Amino acid sequence: MKYIFANWKMYLDFDESNILMNRLLQNDFDGDSLVMAIFPTTLAFTEIEKATRETLWNVGAQNVAWVEKGAYTGAISAHMLASAGAKYALVGHSERRYVFGEKDEDVRKKVEACFDAGIIPVLCVGETKEDYADDKRQYRIKKQLLAVFDGLETKGRDILIAYEPVWAIGTGDAATPADAEDVIGWIKKELQDFTKQEIPVLYGGSVDKKNVVSYIEQDSIDGVLVGHVSTQYDEFVDLIREIEKQ
Ligand code: PEP
Repeated sequence: MKYIFANWKMYLDFDESNILMNRLLQNDFDGDSLVMAIFPTTLAFTEIEKATRETLWNVGAQNVAWVEKGAYTGAISAHMLASAGAKYALVGHSERRYVFGEKDEDVRKKVEACFDAGIIPVLCVGETKEDYADDKRQYRIKKQLLAVFDGLETKGRDILIAYEPVWAIGTGDAATPADAEDVIGWIKKELQDFTKQEIPVLYGGSVDKKNVVSYIEQDSIDGVLVGHVSTQYDEFVDLIREIEKQ
């Protein structure tokens, strides 16, 4: 079983999102081997959630607020997203961390809010270019993981991890499959120590139809989180077909 998660970020407006979803829905994909989810703009969330009911596609949120309700202008809580049908939520995406200043402590609260709301968090972790240059990759990722998992009760809860090196996101400079496999294998060992559970880990960062198989065929990589390419119909369908051939 491989995960294909599509983060549409803020690339598509309401109409563009619905048009792309409707085109994707015209394809038959292999539901026995794929777990697929779209993370659309919140504006189109409800439409896409309705359109994908009884299909292979799941819908996720790109972000959640950790408080359930109240005077938090502009925020949408995990509970509200759950009530609108969100199965997953991205938590701690690097654009939230580095563009919007989200801290490790915020990410922890968001993971807990997802658990409370019954949403499966997709915890994004990864080192910056500077971390990489300073040989601080493991330090950064371990800090991000510990902030979330230290003392967290995960028994009976579903959670996924996306390893996304910040320098690989949207740059065309993807991690080599061997490098991604090394890091993800190590993340899985760390997670075993913290949680005593097997937690699936996806790779994200400049995945496209040409390189996707090289990640999917690695032992430790359970799937891919795809950003820009997932907003381009032909490219994205080709990418899914490449995985189906495996
Ligand atoms: C992402 O933002 O999660 C991502 C993987 O982006 P891209 O595929 O565009 O690098």
